[in-house]
Amino acid sequence: MYDYLVVGSGLFGSIFAHEARKVGKSVLVMDKRPHIGGNCYTENRDGVDVHTYGPHIFHTSDERIWKYVNQFATFNHYVNRPKVNYKGKIYSFPINLMTLQQLWDVTTPAEASRKLEEVRVPCANPRNLEEWILSQVGREVYETFIRGYTMKQWKRDPKDLPSFIIKRLPIRLTYDDNYFEDPYQGIPIGGYTKIFEGLLQGVDTALGEDFFADRQKWENRAKSVVFTGKIDEYFGYSCGELDYRTLNFEHHAQAGDYQGVAVVNYTEADIPYTRITEHKHFQVQDVHKIKNTVWTKEFPAEWNRDAVPYYPINDEKNNSIYSQYKEMAKNESNVIFGGRLAEYKYYDMHQVVGSALQKSRKVLGV
Ligand code: UDP
Repeated sequence: MYDYLVVGSGLFGSIFAHEARKVGKSVLVMDKRPHIGGNCYTENRDGVDVHTYGPHIFHTSDERIWKYVNQFATFNHYVNRPKVNYKGKIYSFPINLMTLQQLWDVTTPAEASRKLEEVRVPCANPRNLEEWILSQVGREVYETFIRGYTMKQWKRDPKDLPSFIIKRLPIRLTYDDNYFEDPYQGIPIGGYTKIFEGLLQGVDTALGEDFFADRQKWENRAKSVVFTGKIDEYFGYSCGELDYRTLNFEHHAQAGDYQGVAVVNYTEADIPYTRITEHKHFQVQDVHKIKNTVWTKEFPAEWNRDAVPYYPINDEKNNSIYSQYKEMAKNESNVIFGGRLAEYKYYDMHQVVGSALQKSRKVLGV
């Protein structure tokens, strides 16, 4: 009998397992996929660390979280500076002075600020994504960079989406095109999988195993369960199904360099993919030595129970369903829920690390 059965070997589960093992607990980590790492998993193909489940860029402002992940890999100095392709023209992104220069020919912060004053659609109390972004940058910027991408990504009108989704993106009147504000940023040299190998060193794993295929059997193997899967599935969908967005990926391999940068967003509504990731550009330390390249088109799609749930959709309807499951979870003794799916939260990696450390240390009493 193990002390803990951890369902899911993504960031939350693997960190919990690591912390538990460190204090002498016995842990079994299971995952229905044949590999560890959840959606952070990377696999090496001809020297390219392919982000199999979409691009992952680690960033944080918390030194403690940064030090924690650096125990398991050395991070390179990659800085995320994606580009936008709109009607064949490349723009600097996230929205910064260079973007506005390309769009409006303004060159100084003062000129840009004057232009924005002219085009903003004032709104005293923005209630959704569209109202918020229009009140910041006006209609042309919204139509060029945001509307099409957001419709494809969420298959919802931006009027029906919460504004926190877009507040992840900075808007700057300087030439700084770094996507993230955080002081710590990078990609693990050797890929993300290396971090999970380090976290799970000495921990028993059962890969390619589905918890729900024989729930009783798995639950009987441990005194407590750490559940990182979909919370609605855990409770048998008794309060209704939560919605997710899934992604389909189309991977291509060839010689040379395909697009000259790690990520290009395609913001037109008519192009079915949202972005193309060229993985080797994440490996800034040796991108020039890597002869081959792998690039991936990312197509957001309608989720169904057989698809991978990538993004929770935190609109009113789903948040209210989730809050019922959250209440039920409180009565589940000996079960710890955590991570993007069990907390139904659009977490970034560093936030999962933070919450996994906090929860595991509380539960383990360290
Ligand atoms: N977004 C957009 N245009 C872009 C990139 C992002 O409108 O070129 C919006 C879109 O609504 C998206 C959100 O900003 O869902 C967050 O994007 P981010 O790239 O941070 O999300 P990720 O998919 O990488 O978690």
